[in-house]
Amino acid sequence: MNILVLGAGQLARMMSLAGAPLNINIIAYDVDSGMLMHPLTLRSSEQTLSEAIAECDAITVEFEHIPDEVLTQCAASGKLYPGKQAIQVGGDRSIEKALLDKIGVPCAPYQLITNRSHLDLAIGKLGLPLVIKTCQAGYDGKGQWWIKAGSDVEQIWSEMSDFLAAGSINAPHSMIAETMIPFQREVSVIGARDRAGNMAIYPVTENEHTHGVLTLSVAKSISTDIHRQAVEAFSKLASEMDYVGVLTIEFFDVDGQLMVNEIAPRVHNSGHWTQQGTLCSQFENHLRAVAGLPLGTTEAIGPSAMINVLGQPEIPAEVLSVANVTSHWYGKSQRPGRKMGHINLVAESEEALGEMLVALSAFLPEEYYPGVARRGRDLSQD
Ligand code: ATP
Ligand code: MG
Repeated sequence: MNILVLGAGQLARMMSLAGAPLNINIIAYDVDSGMLMHPLTLRSSEQTLSEAIAECDAITVEFEHIPDEVLTQCAASGKLYPGKQAIQVGGDRSIEKALLDKIGVPCAPYQLITNRSHLDLAIGKLGLPLVIKTCQAGYDGKGQWWIKAGSDVEQIWSEMSDFLAAGSINAPHSMIAETMIPFQREVSVIGARDRAGNMAIYPVTENEHTHGVLTLSVAKSISTDIHRQAVEAFSKLASEMDYVGVLTIEFFDVDGQLMVNEIAPRVHNSGHWTQQGTLCSQFENHLRAVAGLPLGTTEAIGPSAMINVLGQPEIPAEVLSVANVTSHWYGKSQRPGRKMGHINLVAESEEALGEMLVALSAFLPEEYYPGVARRGRDLSQD
């Protein structure tokens, strides 16, 4: 079976690796260059997008910011999973917020901004500090401004107005202002839904971000109430969108109440631990759903963690000397802060996972791998 993936980054690469044992062949479409390519070698092919659409069995995405004409062309083939509407929800925060309001799933209070008076309205309604986010672009904390005091407003507005002005009549730009949420932690839920509506949901993951970028994820036992809230939000959203594939929801945990931060209509960085932490990773389950195959198990083999490798060209070889630790490289050229790869850990107990993180922290400096030592100590002492 052949599956066309829109996007040719690390998520398409890991789908390709998960697809091979299923006899699923992945072809990637690089949206920037308009070229079809092999997701592992990045060698381009002569094929056109129209030919690839005609020849594949199913089409999916590895990111949500896909040009509308490409999505429309793919959707017209009847092979696109998840559907265009679900991809647009993830690609535009104003559509995402409207959907959450419609189905009654809580998210951070917000105000849509398309002109200066809306910003004043947001400050009056939501107060300061405020987080401003672009609705149509942005990832890894890019396209965000934090207004902490009234004196920040003019400078930030001048940057915001550049983004708003860059929109067009057919593709207007907007922003949202959100209340800054004083969360105790961030969590995500990742699950798959197949064409018949069956769902398989992974254990909730705890995520640590540094300067807006995910640095560390830990999947371990979590209160039944948090699990229930996450599963309820997942089921409501996935059913409402008639979703097919893997869907991710990021939340803020505020005093035990989950509030949605954002929705990603795809496999997600906070689910990379499932490659070793389960018998059927998020990549495999996504392909199974999209290909019309039965979903696989989402149960964790044991407490697991994932450490992102950001901007580093390599990791010390000693990392691999720790039992049950694996590395996963994306084949990218080095740039400061760029997601280059990740390290997965799976353990028999939470205490053992903590000890592994502590052992790894001897080789992974705090400057580049924040939180590994602290998280390890916390887990091994709990
Ligand atoms: P990605 O797509 O990589 O997950 P993103 O650029 O789409 O990231 P968000 O997930 O919206 O951005 O924000 C990145 C991080 O910034 C969040 O994980 C959280 O740590 C912080 N953040 C975002 N919005 C808020 C908020 N309203 N209150 C407090 N912190 C926030
Ligand atoms: Mg996010």
